[in-house]
Amino acid sequence: MEEGLARTERALAKLDEGTYGCCDTCGAPIAPARLQAMPDGVLCLACADSQRRAAPPRRR
Ligand SMILES: [Zn+2]
Repeated sequence: MEEGLARTERALAKLDEGTYGCCDTCGAPIAPARLQAMPDGVLCLACADSQRRAAPPRRR
């Protein structure tokens, strides 16, 4: 839950910065379909994928 909140806050910060819709890591534009599915997403598909691989979510 806390991670989700931090992500939302980051997305809102990007709105302020004017970089919303661009990847937080590589700066590439995030696909509109991806933003629609995940409005608080701040990473492009490739970066989100590599981040997921680097830090796998904890098991319940
Ligand atoms: Zn990226």
